[in-house]
Amino acid sequence: MALITKLPSSSSQTTTITQLNKPQIFRSHPSTFINFTKPSSSCSCSYSPFTEKHSIERYQRDNWVFKNQLDQNYPSDKDSDYEIAIQLPELKNLLQVLRKKREKNLDGESGIGGVGNVYLVGTGPGDPDLLTLKALKVIQKADLLLYDRLVSNDVLELVNPDARLLYVGKTAGYHSRTQEEIHELLLSFAEVGANVVRLKGGDPLVFGRGGEEMDYLQQHGIKVKVIPGITAASGIAAELGVPLTHRGVANSVRFLTGHSRKGGTDPLFVAENAADPDSTLVVYMGLSTLPALVLKLIQHGLPPDTPAAAVERGTTPQQRIVLTELKDLPDKITTEEFVSPTLIFIGKVVALSPLWPQSCSHETSCLIPHI
Ligand code: SAH
Repeated sequence: MALITKLPSSSSQTTTITQLNKPQIFRSHPSTFINFTKPSSSCSCSYSPFTEKHSIERYQRDNWVFKNQLDQNYPSDKDSDYEIAIQLPELKNLLQVLRKKREKNLDGESGIGGVGNVYLVGTGPGDPDLLTLKALKVIQKADLLLYDRLVSNDVLELVNPDARLLYVGKTAGYHSRTQEEIHELLLSFAEVGANVVRLKGGDPLVFGRGGEEMDYLQQHGIKVKVIPGITAASGIAAELGVPLTHRGVANSVRFLTGHSRKGGTDPLFVAENAADPDSTLVVYMGLSTLPALVLKLIQHGLPPDTPAAAVERGTTPQQRIVLTELKDLPDKITTEEFVSPTLIFIGKVVALSPLWPQSCSHETSCLIPHI
């Protein structure tokens, strides 16, 4: 685990932890793949929502906290629209090249030229060491990779330098591909025989819409191979030193989404069932609805002092952690200005973390008593 420091906190029950080793934001390697830059002589900077493999724009795509560095060059919506417009011809050209290559192969005797493969690959929560070997092999062989905002930059460093990388993430207020466009892109490139990799943070089939992409492609006769990833809950629980289940403490674990189907603040119809003191709750996409969830969980009987944690950008060098009691968690993450992606853990197992503020020299005193 990286070095951590405990920040001063107003409550003895609350700890905020941030990593000391700051990310290396700027990289200076030459860009070796298709470069979708704004064709302007007045500005050598690039605004594209499509990745620039070694530039700061990749960090802008998700608006993660690097505001100071970004203010100058952050694209306006207008720029983004413009960039998407100029990107499409580039993609069409690439498709054209691949199509011609395929036709040539079909005409020749090589017999090469069938439909390509689409891999749905989970990249884990951020730390590239959490990639599976299978994922690494596929990433290194890909012709085209489509990735979303949770795929960390360190993972993208592992991509074959000749491959094309395309950012298709969705971030509030920042234009990018619609789900339908993503489906079509995957299909078009697979049809011309490209090895297409759809990278998704964590596990592609846990709150990742991977199922929808699979379904669409399969309906169009394209085989999809899924390579699982370490979902945020597992990867980040390991960082915290929290067992998601623990004999006598938590006999089940539940992954919840805090995201409202209607975009409102009350998707929490599950709270009644989820308010189980013997279960661990892990809430994905839960920042905006957390106050409502906490209220409901407490109303349905979960003790207000249930241990809880919020982890922002877990397993990356920017990781920040808040550990506190359930009732204080919403205020605490507001004070600390946590942003997405943040994962929330609720349950007695959280107090088993060596980072839990009540930890002391007697090891047993920070264990929840067995029931
Ligand atoms: N497929 C992903 C989840 C996608 S939903 C997986 O299996 O992990 C997106 C949510 O996942 C985020 O809003 C956040 O709640 C959580 N998440 C994913 N990666 C994270 C990270 N590195 N740190 C904190 N939360 C993360």
